[in-house]
Order: sequence, then C-alpha cells, then structure tokens
Amino acid sequence: MTVNQSGWKPTTPTAATSDGATTTGNRALMLEEPLIFEIGDSDSTGVDFGSYASGTSRIAGLERSTEIGLPGLSEPQTVRHYTRLSRQNYAIDLGLFPLGSCTMKHNPRLNEKVARMPGFADIHPLAPQESVQGALELIDTLAYWLITLTGMHGVAMSPKAGAHGELCGILAIRAALEARGDARSVVLVPESAHGTNPATAAFAGYKVENIPATSAGRVDLEALKARLEVGGPNCDVAAVMITNPNTCGLFEPEMKAISDAVHAAGGLVYCDGANFNAIVGKVRPGDLGIDAMHINLHKTFSTPHGGGGPGSGPVVMSEALSRFAPLPYVVKSGDGYRLVEEETAHAEGSDSFGRMVAFHGQMGMFTRALAYMMSHGADGLAQVAADSVLNANYLLRSLEDVLDAPFAHSGPCMHEAIFSDKGFAEGFSTIDVAKALIDEGFHPMTMYFPLVVHGAMLVEPTETESKANLDQFIVALRSIAERARAGDPALKTAPIYAPRRRLDETLAARKPILAYQTPAPDGAESGVGAELGGR
Ligand SMILES: *Cc1c(COP(=O)(O)O)cnc(C)c1O
Repeated sequence: MTVNQSGWKPTTPTAATSDGATTTGNRALMLEEPLIFEIGDSDSTGVDFGSYASGTSRIAGLERSTEIGLPGLSEPQTVRHYTRLSRQNYAIDLGLFPLGSCTMKHNPRLNEKVARMPGFADIHPLAPQESVQGALELIDTLAYWLITLTGMHGVAMSPKAGAHGELCGILAIRAALEARGDARSVVLVPESAHGTNPATAAFAGYKVENIPATSAGRVDLEALKARLEVGGPNCDVAAVMITNPNTCGLFEPEMKAISDAVHAAGGLVYCDGANFNAIVGKVRPGDLGIDAMHINLHKTFSTPHGGGGPGSGPVVMSEALSRFAPLPYVVKSGDGYRLVEEETAHAEGSDSFGRMVAFHGQMGMFTRALAYMMSHGADGLAQVAADSVLNANYLLRSLEDVLDAPFAHSGPCMHEAIFSDKGFAEGFSTIDVAKALIDEGFHPMTMYFPLVVHGAMLVEPTETESKANLDQFIVALRSIAERARAGDPALKTAPIYAPRRRLDETLAARKPILAYQTPAPDGAESGVGAELGGR
C-alpha cells in the first residue's frame, strides 16, 4: 500500500475495525497511528536548511557518504506521532495495574519534585567529589536506611535492576566461596522462582537445580535438607535463591530454618527481595539468616518503572559477604563523603569482586526512594506492608468463589493473590480473561507465572488502590470469570475495543521484526503488520 504525502491512507475495514469501522480508522478520540516511516520519508524534511558553504571537515574524512534513511517530519507531525502512540499505552497514572510481582503502585509526585531539584538533577557523575557532597550524603543516607530496614550489615548500591542485583549477590557469594578455597557448583532455586533467579545462577557459571515445594506452595524444608546432605562435608551447593514472600504470594515461615540448614552445609543464602513491600517495616531479612538480597527500589520504594523509568536494585549483604561487595561505594570520613573507586583504595579487609557499572548507580532513583522513605517514616512504611497485604486478601476473598485459588486453604496471602484456570469451560484459558480485562479498562494481571500453578493469574493490587477501585476491578473480574466458566464464545473474541486485537504473540516473540521494511513495490503488504496477521 503506498502512503501519500500527508501520511494518511484510507483504511480497509479489517477484523479489527469491522464493528463500527470509520473512514479514518480512528475510533472517537482514540486515534490510529501509522509507523513513523509510513508518515514521513527520507526525501522530505521538517526543516529547511539553507545551502551551506563548504568548509574544512573536522572529523577527518569520517563524514557519512550515504543517506541515513530517516523519515523527515515537521515538529507538529513528530509531536503528534509520539503523543498518539503514548495514548495507546496503559500506565499506572491511568488506572489499576495489577501486574503480580511487579508492584505497580502509585509513584508519589513528591518524589518527582525532590528528584528534579537542581542539586540532584543537574550533576554529572564525573563532577569533583567535593562539589557533590550532598549527593554522596544522599546515597549514604539511603544505604543506611536500607541496611536498617533489612537488618543487614552492608549494601551495594550500584546494581541497576533486580536481575542485576541478583547477579551482584551471586558474584559476591562466588567470591566468598573462592576466598575460602571452596569451589562449589550448584545453586538451588524453587520451581516457582522468577526466571531471573535460575538465569542469574547459570550466568554466574552454576548448575541450577530445583528445590521441591510442598502442596501448600512453600519450600519443602525436609527435601531441601536431604539435598544438602548429598556429598556430606563436601556438599556441592554454593547457594540457595529463595523469594520471600514467594511468587505464590505466600510467606516462607521456615526461612530461618532454611538458612540455618544451608549455612550448616557450608552454603550461602540469597533472597530475592522483589516482594519486600509486603514485609517492609515488619520483618528484617537479616534476622532470617539471609546473606544477600536485592531490593527493587522501583517496586518497594515506588520509583517509576514499566516504561516510566529505569530500575535500581541495591543489594543488602550480611557480615560474611559485605567485604566482597562491588565497587564503587561511599564512605564517610571526618571531612566529608568519598566515593571509593579503586581496588587499591580499599579499606583493610575489603575484597571486592570488582565493578558492575561505570558509575555509582541510579542517582535519580536513589533520590526518589529516599524521598519516599522519609515522607512515610517508620510507621508509614509498616503501613505500606499492612495495606498491600490487606488489599490482596480483599481481592482473594472476593473472588475465590468464582476463580480457583489454589493456596487459599493455606491461609491469608501476602501482597498478591494467585488464581488458576481450573473450572473454566473446555477451551477457555487465562489469556481469555486477560484480554477481556483490557476491554474493561484494566491492565491484565501477570499470566502463566509462576509455572507451578496451571494457567496462573497473579494479581497484585498494591497498597495505593482505594477500596472503590478494588471493588470496580472485582466486579469486572467476577463477570469475566463467570463467562469463562460458562464458556461464553464472545470471550474468545476479546479485546474488541483495543487498538489491536489478538496478535500472533508467539510469532511476534520468536520472529520479531525490529527494523522497518519498505513495502514490496507491487503493493503487497510486508513488514510488521503483515507478519503479525494484520494491523
Ligand atoms: C521483578 C522481579 C525480579 C527482577 O527484577 P527487575 O528489576 O525486573 O530486574 C526478580 N524476581 C522477582 C520475584 C520479581 O518480581
């Protein structure tokens, strides 16, 4: 299909628009938007440059000699293109975002205000340290509160996401084991773990084995002990990685016994702290014998993520592990704060495994997280945990008669409720529920994770949703669940109101087309839309 100069092309009503199709393809104020390459082409330009007098090149013959091939658009065209695309995104600022394990809670605007203060926002990582003492003090203060809240000994601030923090923790564990001349080969991970856990262990060179779970959805302590005994004093288990509360939304009450058993066998304990918002201010992981745990500042401490900002994953560490933490780190001395950057500058007894990032970590997220902590205070943070758990249990108990809740018999959940597709009519699955939720105006919950629950739906409402919001979500999800149980064929066609309907997600994941392909000259469709079975 050729695109005319203005970028508008008549739409043929497709499956996506056949009900109530319009000539523009727009539906009310929900605007269609072509790809930027379909709007502009490299022959047009949004700016008229006068001809320039040739001068001497200052880049030693490295000038581009061919066309760059970018579409030339005017400023209003560009602004509208990206604004229209942004309106097709769902965001936490629009409504409830119950994506289990992701903790999509409200990002307080106070955090944003503080992060934009010029003293924090306008500094450069290479600025002389004496000129950024306030920023270093902020990092040190945040580190202090992370250590205090977790009851740990030290913290590595630089990792830039939860997964990056896992790698930091496992590398510190490997360094600690190597320092005592004890090369071990296995990391144990429960089957319900987030995929980053086994990926991290494998990336660090370990063999990954599953820790069995009980029917109640928790780590099977006896089976774990039996595995640790294999090889006796020459146990091959370097570490266990356990999520607490776990990804079934359940607290691991035997965590201390698990840690003790692992330590007795000479291993170390990594805790995935992504779910810390359920226990912050209530439980200190340090008291449970944990050696390393990442904290997703972008989950527990409300810094924006999911398209809104970068992650930040500081790792708190036990006394046994802290000296292996990565560079750089902030130290306070008599005359102020200093960033320790070099191995040679180490304090006595320090044995860092190296460096993970160029600079000191995500300054903007540190600022937001500390603003969040200070505006909540100790009582406010404990209230966060209580409210996140209360909201999840409200959902669990309001829906368990229409959605199978596999662990509801084990008692209350923590900050997220898990459901399965058991009881749906033949041929109906979790994906149908998720797509129908889009029609109702909600971002779907986490689907098909954790793998231990068939057709899992992991719902995390977070503590920042009001009862009114939860009630509206419950009404929507109840009606969809009832349709799935009854086998309503219309459910299979959802979403009907979204800009796109059901795409071939497997094809999109397996064979993504990441570069624009010019349409074939004969007018045959090619490119992303065609590959995915129609736009
Ligand atoms: C989010 C999450 C991670 C990974 O964290 P990122 O910041 O996305 O890298 C790991 N484990 C669990 C349980 C999570 O929810």
